[in-house]
Amino acid sequence: RSALEHGRPVLVEDLHTSPLYEDLRREWAANGVQIPVRSVIALPFTLGRVQAGVFFLRRMVDEPPLTNEDVEFADSVVKAAVAAIHRALLIETTKADNARLEVLAHTDALTQVLNRRGLTARLASELERARRYDSVLTLLMVDLDNFKQVNDSHGHLVGDDVLREVAKLLRHAVRTMDVVARYGGEEFVVVLPETSLAGAATFAERIRENVEAAMFPGLRGEPLKLTASIGVSSYPSTTVQTVDDLFARADEALYRAKADGRNRVCL
Ligand code: GH3
Ligand code: MG
Ligand code: MG
Repeated sequence: RSALEHGRPVLVEDLHTSPLYEDLRREWAANGVQIPVRSVIALPFTLGRVQAGVFFLRRMVDEPPLTNEDVEFADSVVKAAVAAIHRALLIETTKADNARLEVLAHTDALTQVLNRRGLTARLASELERARRYDSVLTLLMVDLDNFKQVNDSHGHLVGDDVLREVAKLLRHAVRTMDVVARYGGEEFVVVLPETSLAGAATFAERIRENVEAAMFPGLRGEPLKLTASIGVSSYPSTTVQTVDDLFARADEALYRAKADGRNRVCL
C-alpha cells in the first residue's frame, strides 16, 4: 500500500522489526503464525500513465536481507520489462484498431453488409479463385422497383428501414460463403461462388419471391409492399472474363428485367 501511495519502491529489510509490519505482526502473533520471510521489496509500476500494479519481491529468514542495491537492480529490471510489455500492448491496440477500421471501411453504414469498396475487393479474390480452380461464380444485381415512390409516399426514414430489411432478407437467404453487398442506393449485389447460371436462376427467383412476399413496415405501421428486379451474370462465359464483364452483363440483364415490366429475373 505504501508503494502504491507514494509511487516509489519500498524496502523492508526485516519485517520482524519494521514499523510498517507492526499491525500484521500482532495479527500473526494472535494466530500463532510463523512467517519465514525476512525482507521484502514492493516495486510499483505504471503502464502508460496508469498505475498498473506492484511487484513484490521476498527473501527468507535464512538468506541475507535485501538492500538498497537490490532495490535499484530490481527497479531497473522491472522498468525494462514493463517498457517491453507497454510497447507490446501498444502494438496490439494499434493492430486491433487497424482491423476495426478495415472492417468499417468495407461496411455499408446503413445496412451493415459490404459496401461497394468491400465488394470490389472480395469479388476480385473470388474471381481469381474461380479462375485458378476452374470453378464457376454467379453475380446477382438486385434493384428495388420504383423505390423512389417508397420515399415519396412514406418518407426517407421508412425508405432507410426498408433498405435495412432487404439487406437482412438477402443475408438470411444466402449460404455462408456467399457475399451480400450494397452496390448503390437501392441496389444490392449477391455473389454466389461455385454456382452456375442455372443454379443461380432458381436462387434469384426465390429472392424475388421473398421480396414480393415480404411485408415491410410503412409509415404509421401501414403495410408496405415491394418488388425487385434481378439481373444475373456468370463466370465463365464467352462474354464474361473479368469483374467488369460480370457487372456489365448483370447490368444489361437487369435493364431487360426493368424494360420487360419489373418484378422479374433476367439472365
Ligand atoms: P426503378 O424501378 O426503375 O429501379 O425505379 P426506382 O425508383 O427504384 O429507381 P430510381 O433510380 O429512379 O430511384 C432510386 C431511388 O432510391 C431514389 C432515391 O431516393 C432512393 N434511394 C437511394 N439511396 C437511398 C437511401 O440510402 N435511402 C433512401 N431512403 N432512399 C434511397
Ligand atoms: Mg430501383
Ligand atoms: Mg437503381
